[in-house]
Amino acid sequence: MKRRLASLDGQPLEGQRAFVRVDFNVPLQDGRVSDTTRIDAALPTVQWLRERGCRVILASHLGRPKGRPSHEFSLRPVVPVLESALGAPVMFIEDPLSDAAVRITKRLKRGEVALLENTRFHPGEETNDRALAEAFARLGDFYVNDAFGSAHRAHASTEGVAHLLKPAVAGLLMARELEFLHDALERPAPPFVAVLGGAKISGKIDVIETLLPKVDAILIGGAMACTFFAAMGLGVGKSLVEPDRVDMARDLLGRGEGKLCLPDRVTVADRLAADARIASVSRDGIAADVAVYDIAPEAAEAFVRRIVAAKTVVWNGPMGVFETPPFDAGTIAVARGLASATARGATTIVGGGDSAAALAAAGLTDRVSHVSTGGGASLELLEGKVLPGVAALDDA
Ligand code: ADP
Ligand code: MG
Repeated sequence: MKRRLASLDGQPLEGQRAFVRVDFNVPLQDGRVSDTTRIDAALPTVQWLRERGCRVILASHLGRPKGRPSHEFSLRPVVPVLESALGAPVMFIEDPLSDAAVRITKRLKRGEVALLENTRFHPGEETNDRALAEAFARLGDFYVNDAFGSAHRAHASTEGVAHLLKPAVAGLLMARELEFLHDALERPAPPFVAVLGGAKISGKIDVIETLLPKVDAILIGGAMACTFFAAMGLGVGKSLVEPDRVDMARDLLGRGEGKLCLPDRVTVADRLAADARIASVSRDGIAADVAVYDIAPEAAEAFVRRIVAAKTVVWNGPMGVFETPPFDAGTIAVARGLASATARGATTIVGGGDSAAALAAAGLTDRVSHVSTGGGASLELLEGKVLPGVAALDDA
């Protein structure tokens, strides 16, 4: 258990400078923020600190500027978005290494907010350089990490500075991620069902390995299922498979104690288009000239039965090429299954950018217990790994 922001309540925070690592890695279009989701997600922590009289210094990376300043990756476009969300001015600190930066943070009034330029404009960010972490530490009196999506990286603003500024605590967003992806999965209420899909098995082998001993079942869809079909000796036609993972899939099936559930039937088509020749076929009847693009409705029904009966559900990866209807049917069915399970009292957790997008498209985001904001970070937590940005925080 890591120390959380809420644990600082009642402490003398007034006038303290909170150095807050946030995730403002937002999409930009023509110099404007085209999706403010990540900024909105950080607001509760920012407001919590402002309400307690803290001076708030925000730091984030944006894109991959490769250790040098570049106009393209400037965080400046975030300033107007933050200002209108907070209804207050936001100071922009161009060079966090300068003495001027320290002065600006010290001149902020209680409740005022400053935003640092992209942390990755400095080569020391990604190498977790001590001198850069020290420069960041001069800009705050204590540390809050609310950037869950960057916590799997040991960078100067996520890890290094956490050792230098104390207390170092998890922000509200980070705390919620840890509560669901770590704490809830440490002792999951049974039955515990995982639903895995997506394009590739390769990125999710370790997740399967880690979950296997904990779960009652792993339901497998997406192109991932095809690699398992190949391992079972079934024909997969033109489906997306990872030939170099077939042996691994066979090994997992052998050790899976019957917990690995593959769809009995799949939706195939001759090409990826809404007007293609589409059919539902048995998994041992996949013709050579078609590809699997979704789990079949019957298989989705069987998966949903398992999901609805579960008390803990983790979902990562769509069941099909959900971007191209009608191959979104299996994914939508699973999303609805999670919503039903939630309504029956289950803890339901969704990780993965594409799964979250599918859930949002189905209008069900608010009907699951938790949607993780961190792709790589949530996968690593599911793999049972320790995230460096979390490990560096104070223990509760
Ligand atoms: P997430 O972002 O939720 O972790 P992934 O990135 O692992 O999910 O996988 C999502 C991608 O998998 C989607 O772009 C989807 O089109 C693709 N996909 C799912 N099923 C298939 C399939 N049968 N064939 C090809 N691609 C698939
Ligand atoms: Mg993805």
